[in-house]
Amino acid sequence: MNKVVLGIFPHADDAASSCGGTLARFAAEGWRVILARVTNDDKDSMDLPSKAETELANTIEFHRAAEIMGAEIVELGYVTDVLGDVNMVGLRERIVYLFRKYRPYAVFTFDPYAHYEPNLDHVRTAQAVEEAFWVSNFHLHYPEHLGQGYQPHCVCERWYFGRVLPDANYAVDITDYFEQKVRALCAHDKMMRNTLHQLQLQLRTWGRRVPAIDQAIEGDLRPMVEGLLRAHNGELAQSFGMAPGHLAEAFRVNRFGFWEEFVQAESEPLPGKPEEMFNRSCFEPGKGPRLFN
Ligand SMILES: [Zn+2]
Repeated sequence: MNKVVLGIFPHADDAASSCGGTLARFAAEGWRVILARVTNDDKDSMDLPSKAETELANTIEFHRAAEIMGAEIVELGYVTDVLGDVNMVGLRERIVYLFRKYRPYAVFTFDPYAHYEPNLDHVRTAQAVEEAFWVSNFHLHYPEHLGQGYQPHCVCERWYFGRVLPDANYAVDITDYFEQKVRALCAHDKMMRNTLHQLQLQLRTWGRRVPAIDQAIEGDLRPMVEGLLRAHNGELAQSFGMAPGHLAEAFRVNRFGFWEEFVQAESEPLPGKPEEMFNRSCFEPGKGPRLFN
């Protein structure tokens, strides 16, 4: 088994904010964690004078965040906030290429079926990953990859996250990795300030202000970022029945879908392959998440 997890993220800060604790945990448990960034984040700043400076600053900060999580980076280089105009089959090909090159056990991305997702970069990336999952298995899709020495590859598990994830079926306890998540997200200084600035502008339209937000934008981001994450990840832990004080990230994990029960009952180990993944307690038959949706 290839102990590789590959996250496909439209933007630099999506990794830390959505699953930073889980990725740090995989890295700490000896997995190779690869963050593929689809776009260049050339517009996501509050006050930098140009796209070039914004792209550079966000890229430097992305490297800092990845280092904190114990991950490495791959860049796809699309322009931010115009994936809606990009050829979807072309984007899918880039993701199939990554699957075949890095041969991940699991892939992380936004849930392609999530509701209330206003960011088209997120939607398009999620859709491209979902299709790449099966297209990557076909030797007649992109045979030029095979000519470069890569083979068809089927990712085993898809770990999907989202702003609103009513079908979440699995939670990872990130209590011990929460500090890494906070530091990684705070490393995205330009993007986090711009996120709060959007809220500040909306509040202004409403005719009000939140002093704590003004202070965070002008000064130390950490108390605001940590407080929001602690509340969100604490609520998720509680909703999955974890003990008070625990923190969690939630996912809709899909493995064999319709086939899950059948393969649990009928499969046997391949010679020479470790049983490590099959024996994970969360995937024991009858326990843990439902993997049919
Ligand atoms: Zn994003």
